[in-house]
Amino acid sequence: MPEGVLLSEREGAVLWLTLNRPRYRNALNIALITALDDALAEAASDDGLGAVVIGGAGPHFCSGHDLGSPGRDLEKPFRRVATTWYDHSDKEGAEAILVREDEAYLSIPLRWRELPKPLIAMVHGACVAGGLSLIWPADLIVASEDAYFADPVVRMGIPGIEYFAHQYVMSTRIAREFLLLGDRMSASRAYEVGMVNRVVPRDELRETTARLAERCAARPRFGVALAKRALNAVEDRMGLRDGMSTAFGLHQVAHAHSALTSDDHVGGQNPRSIARDLAPE
Ligand code: ZN
Repeated sequence: MPEGVLLSEREGAVLWLTLNRPRYRNALNIALITALDDALAEAASDDGLGAVVIGGAGPHFCSGHDLGSPGRDLEKPFRRVATTWYDHSDKEGAEAILVREDEAYLSIPLRWRELPKPLIAMVHGACVAGGLSLIWPADLIVASEDAYFADPVVRMGIPGIEYFAHQYVMSTRIAREFLLLGDRMSASRAYEVGMVNRVVPRDELRETTARLAERCAARPRFGVALAKRALNAVEDRMGLRDGMSTAFGLHQVAHAHSALTSDDHVGGQNPRSIARDLAPE
């Protein structure tokens, strides 16, 4: 993995992870996803650690899955901890896309949701598309006033990101608007609709997050782990995983349709065309 795509820093019982591809708005390539997955796996086993914060370097938290940086590494194998799939990197067509997306864009974020310690997302600037699959599995989301959120992938002919949790992080009415219009949602509106826990001025973001992380970290380890199990179980009984599974299948049909009818699997869109189209709210 190229060095430095993820920075890691320990302060007391809190682990601070920083996405570090600022030049590419922290676009998620396999190297970065793997680095995050490794760091969280290590955090899970570290008894001295009580909470994990994920933030981003540079002007934006995360622009989503990497659609066009020089470090785009779609063909790079990733570390598989499960036996669910084989290596996608030497496969073609829908086989390569589905295997990669199922592991990197769905199973891994679902694993992050199962982290037995509080996971806190600290968001500033843009958090778009695949960036949402970093924050929605978290327990708390702290946003600065300049943060905004969007899932613009219907523009690519795709029915929502792989981690299809829209209707669990906001009401289903607002989720319909969020997905079908695909506009920016400001931090203040994200707070109003219940998607984020705190909105603070940018210069207070780290301090507010630190206070919350320290408070979470001070809770008993086993109690926190059990509470997270219970919370996740209830969301699962409400249909989170079933719905995600159906949406993921439809998402793969969309990629295959795009690949069959055009030159790529994302409806001819690229980071620039998406950014141009993402009008402020
Ligand atoms: Zn996809």
